[in-house]
This record gives sequence, structure tokens and C-alpha cells, in this order.
Amino acid sequence: MLTIQPIPAFDDNYIWLLSDPPSGRAFVVDPGDAAPVIAELERQQLNLAGVLITHHHFDHVGGLAQLRDIYSPRVYGPRNEAITGIDQQLASGDNIEVLGERFEVMEVPGHTLDHIAYFHQGDEPLLFCGDTLFAGGCGRMFEGTAPVMHGSLQALAALPASTRVYCAHEYTLANLAFARAVEPDNGELTRRIAEAEAARAENQPTVPSKLALELATNPFLRCDQSAVLASLKSQNKLQGETGAEVFAAVRAWKDNF
Ligand SMILES: [Zn+2]
Repeated sequence: MLTIQPIPAFDDNYIWLLSDPPSGRAFVVDPGDAAPVIAELERQQLNLAGVLITHHHFDHVGGLAQLRDIYSPRVYGPRNEAITGIDQQLASGDNIEVLGERFEVMEVPGHTLDHIAYFHQGDEPLLFCGDTLFAGGCGRMFEGTAPVMHGSLQALAALPASTRVYCAHEYTLANLAFARAVEPDNGELTRRIAEAEAARAENQPTVPSKLALELATNPFLRCDQSAVLASLKSQNKLQGETGAEVFAAVRAWKDNF
């Protein structure tokens, strides 16, 4: 059984620490900074057995070189030669073992073209999705197009509703403020905002979230909902009504929100 906890880094990143305390072994996901990882590993007396990378951005890989020097972990990541220090490059359908648990790799391009996610199917499914799906939002499209990003989010949306979603940033309150502008009458969203505000007031993370909650409140997963369409129409923001076109309109609105 994995223990999972966030290691805060920079202003709003979470580096996820997966550990198996009896064995003293740990993995981290997207170590953008080595120092807080080293401090937490030392505090818990864990050895870093592996690293999972989701994409090439510096705030996800910046700590890799130093962690390799100290711990020599096995490093998994996308097929991107621009990332230095990956031992095993992964693509959709690949399976890897993380502290005795099986994770399946999904290619989810859009935020970047190399972006991958790690999914564990089990009684409590887990998803590490980097900057693709956020709590209440999604990543900006730095490299992909709207149809590509929309396709990636649709693939994540099709995972079990009970999946716990571990994203890489604490952007939830800003994301939910935008979601409320899109769907002011969504009661589940109103409840979620109250919970998230309470968590942040206590300096607690709002993540992981559950995929079921994302499906009910995240506008980027709700491009097929009549309320979202009506909202875009009333704002004169809709170019077309395919899923990808609706997604593009929501993303463009958020980019200027
Ligand atoms: Zn990124």
C-alpha cells in the first residue's frame, strides 16, 4: 500500500512523494526542485528508488540532476531527448512498477507535446497528471492545439470516477473562480468552492481531487453540458459546437479571465 503526500515547492508546485515506509523506499513525481525533496526524504529516512516525470518544463525536472547524483534513482519519463537523465522513456500503454504497484502510461499531449500521465488501476485508482488536468481546470496549451488537448482530457475523463487526481499545482481557487463564471448555477461547484476556501484558509492542499468531482465542476470536462454552451453563447465566445471547439472557447476565455 502506497503512502502519498505532497512536497510543496516554488510558489504553488506539488512534488508528489510516494513511499512504502516498511521498505524505506520512495518515488517522487516531477521534482522541479531537489532541496525540499532531499529534506523530506531525510526527515522520513527514505531512499529515493525512482522518479516519474510527466513533461519537460523546468518546474517539473529542475531537481533531477541533483537527485540522481545523491540517490541514483531509476528515472521514468516521456520520449523527449530534451530531458536529461531519463533511464526509461515511456509511451501510451507502457506499464511500470512503482513500489510494487503497477502504473499504466498515457500520452496526454496539449500542455506540452511530450506530456504523459501515470494511472494506477485498483480499489482506489490513482492518476498523476502533471499540468494536464488540474483541480477545477486544465493546463495552458503551450505546445498542443485545442483538439489535441481536448482529446487528452477526454481520455482522462474516461477513467473510473473514483480516481484520485494528483495534479502538480495548487491553482484550485483561481480555477474555481473561473468555473463559477462559466456555470454560476452549478450547486456542486458552489459546495466545492466553499470546501476549497476552507482548506486554503487552513493552508491545506486542495488536492488530490476525485475525478467524479472534476466531471461535476471542472468546465474543461463539461464541454458537452448545455449550461456551459449557453454561457459561452451568452458571452458571444462560441465559434462552433464540436467538443474541441467548445473546449477551445472555454480555454480562450480562461486565458483572458
Ligand atoms: Zn508545465
